[in-house]
Amino acid sequence: MTDNDTQPLDVAIIGGGPAGLTAGIYASRAGLKTLIIEGSTVTSQITMTDLIENFPGVPEGTSGFDLVESFRKQALSFGARTATADVSAVRKKSLGGFEGWELVCGGKTFDALAVVVATGSAWRRLGAEGEERFIGRGVSFCATCDGPLYRNREVVVVGGGNSAIQEALFLTHFASKVTVIHRRDRLRADDVLQKRAFANPKIEFAWSSVVKEIRGGDLVEGVTIAPAGGEGKERVLPAEGVFIFVGLTPNTAMVTDVVARDAQGYITADADMKTSAAGIFAAGDCIHKTLHQVVTACGDGATAAYSAQLYVEALKGESY
Ligand SMILES: Cc1cc2nc3c(=O)[nH]c(=O)nc-3n(C[C@H](O)[C@H](O)[C@H](O)COP(=O)(O)OP(=O)(O)OC[C@H]3O[C@@H](n4cnc5c(N)ncnc54)[C@H](O)[C@@H]3O)c2cc1C
Repeated sequence: MTDNDTQPLDVAIIGGGPAGLTAGIYASRAGLKTLIIEGSTVTSQITMTDLIENFPGVPEGTSGFDLVESFRKQALSFGARTATADVSAVRKKSLGGFEGWELVCGGKTFDALAVVVATGSAWRRLGAEGEERFIGRGVSFCATCDGPLYRNREVVVVGGGNSAIQEALFLTHFASKVTVIHRRDRLRADDVLQKRAFANPKIEFAWSSVVKEIRGGDLVEGVTIAPAGGEGKERVLPAEGVFIFVGLTPNTAMVTDVVARDAQGYITADADMKTSAAGIFAAGDCIHKTLHQVVTACGDGATAAYSAQLYVEALKGESY
C-alpha cells in the first residue's frame, strides 16, 4: 500500500490494542491490504498496567506497554500500516461496484471493504462531586501513569475488582498508605490478588462505602465517603490521589446506528466475530462477552481477521 494508492483497503481495523493488533497480524499476513487506526485521544487499556502475569508464554510477566509494542512490531513486519486518528463514524459506501464502508476521522476518511472494530472500553466515572474538576489534579484512571507522583503520600483507590486491587498493589511502591474504598463488604478480585492486598501493610480498606465528594483547593486533599446503603455517618479520608477503577464503558459510539449492541453499548458478535452488519466484524473488550482480557482479545482479533479475509475473498470472487 502506498500513500497515493486510491484502491480501497481490504480491511480497516479500528483500534491498536491487543485485539486490533492481532487482527492486523492475521490480516496482513494473509496478504490483505490492512490499515490499523489507533485512537489519538483514547489509549489501549492494557498500556495502563505495569505488570501482566497471565498472558501465556510470558511467565516472567511483562508491562502492558511492552506487550502492545511487540504486537505492533509483529503486525508491521507483515505489511500492516498504521494511522493515528479517532474514528467518529462508519458509513456504508459503494466502492468500485462493491458494498464497502467509509470511516470518518475528523476531516479525513478511509474506505475499506471490511472493518474490524476493536476499540476497547474506557473507565466509568463515579459521578461524585468534584470528580471532573480534579481530573489531572489528583483524580486519575491510571496508576502506572500517575503512581510515581504520589511518593510518600496517602492515596485512595475506588473499586474492588481485579484492576482496582492490581493497581492498589502497584501504588504501594510509591504511596505511604493506600485505602481501597469499595461499595461492598468483600472484594470481587481474583483470590491471588486479594491475598496479596490483605498481606500488604500499606493497604487499608473502607468497606461498604461510596465516595460522595472529592475535596480540595487547586489539588485533591481528600474524599468524603458515606455508607453504601445511605444510613450512617459520612467521614473524610485525607488523600492527595484518587484512583478510580469502577467498571468500563465500551468505545462503540462510532457504530451506534450501524451494528447491534447490548444495553450497555457492547457490540454483539457471534463466534466468528461477525456483527449484525455484513462486512463489519468486532473483537476484544468492545464486544459483549464474559471475560475481557488480553488473551481473549487476541483470540477475537485473530478470528475477526480470518472472518474478514473470507468475506473480502467472497466479495471479490476469489474464494476457493
Ligand atoms: C488497570 C488494568 C489492568 C489490567 N490488567 C490485565 C492483566 O493483567 N491481564 C489481562 O489479560 N488483561 C488485563 N486488563 C484488561 C486488558 O487491558 C483488556 O482486556 C485489553 O486491553 C483489551 O484489548 P482491546 O484491544 O480489546 O482494547 P484496548 O487494549 O483498550 O485497545 C483499544 C484500542 O482502540 C482504540 N480506540 C478507541 N476508540 C477509538 C476510536 N474512536 N478511533 C480509533 N481508535 C480507537 C484505542 O486507541 C486503543 O488503541 C487490564 C486492564 C486495566 C485497565
